[in-house]
Amino acid sequence: MRTVIRAGIFYDGTLAEPKRDVVITFAEGKIESITAASEGGAYDRAAACVVPGLVNAHVHLEASGEAASQDAWSKATPNDRVIAAVANARKSVRAGVTTVRDLGCSGGVAQSVAAAVNRGAIPGPRISTAGAVICMTGGHGWFIGRQVDSPWEARKAVREQLLAGATCVKFIATGGVLTQGAVPGNAQLTPDELSAGIDEAHRHGLRAAAHAIGTLGIKNALRGGIDSVEHGHMLDDEAIELFKASGSYLVPTLTAPTCMLEHVAEGLQPAWAVAKAQTVAEEMRVNIARAYRAGVKIAGGSDAGTPYNLHENYAYEIELMQTLLGMTPREALHAATGVAGELIGLGTGILSPGMPADLLLLDDDFAKDIRILAKPLAVYKAGTLVD
Ligand SMILES: [Zn+2]
Repeated sequence: MRTVIRAGIFYDGTLAEPKRDVVITFAEGKIESITAASEGGAYDRAAACVVPGLVNAHVHLEASGEAASQDAWSKATPNDRVIAAVANARKSVRAGVTTVRDLGCSGGVAQSVAAAVNRGAIPGPRISTAGAVICMTGGHGWFIGRQVDSPWEARKAVREQLLAGATCVKFIATGGVLTQGAVPGNAQLTPDELSAGIDEAHRHGLRAAAHAIGTLGIKNALRGGIDSVEHGHMLDDEAIELFKASGSYLVPTLTAPTCMLEHVAEGLQPAWAVAKAQTVAEEMRVNIARAYRAGVKIAGGSDAGTPYNLHENYAYEIELMQTLLGMTPREALHAATGVAGELIGLGTGILSPGMPADLLLLDDDFAKDIRILAKPLAVYKAGTLVD
């Protein structure tokens, strides 16, 4: 079936000037053409604005924004986790998020959900998944982690994730906010462990992401050849130089600490987590904007699933890229589509002939108000309307 959409303004997910009054034609799940609209031309549907489906480079499908995250994660049964991941996959795609990268799950849940989405059994975005996070013994995220304590164990852990169907890997380079006792500023996996694990991932064609908040851990990951640094909140000038020299992506997850701090008054989050979120948020506001201005590649990713940070609210991350980092709406959309898509490597995020027909219809130009991205009129994934 061929579908023709007429758009008042069209953004392709790059930094190119938007085009006005165009017709987008797609069939067999792919874009056929994007051409100037002609008088009296027929179309199936019209929208004021069309943009690519959103790409969230950092999610946890089995987590649903629970206030006491570690507690919820530790108590959930395998069945609970599957049910949550299925529900969150559906919520994501309905909200216009058509590609995600799951950076840490238990029991291969994200791989199973990805397979079910791919065979059409359940609705959801395209999913790349890391499987279990690779951390030191007792390291950040150990409750969804494969704990390793030597370079060879790091290599073996990568091979295990590959066997379990992972399409990327995630290393824990520093402590984190949501694990009790893990200090975000402290390095965790050693440079040797990181380098070995990253090398192993690359030997098998997998991209490697590192959870890294503290300065030393960020540099350890970048020097080890990491493809993306997740959070990166305590980066310094030397780290900025390492990012630029390596071409690594920074996925700042601005919503993660922001959502936590917006909900402190409810009193449901552990005090230790709130205290860490406060420290990290202060660093984030200063350092991530600096990295952006210095030309570090920023890819959109929200850490959806962390406290009050819902899978269906990814548009809030894009809004924060505008308000906290000073991006223009078009730059923020680019980070959350073209750049994040390039990082994940599933061939999505940009709309041009031959690319997947993942797109959103909006009722106005989002450049007027970026929050328009939060409420798409319609979502197409692979050319099919998401109900
Ligand atoms: Zn995460």
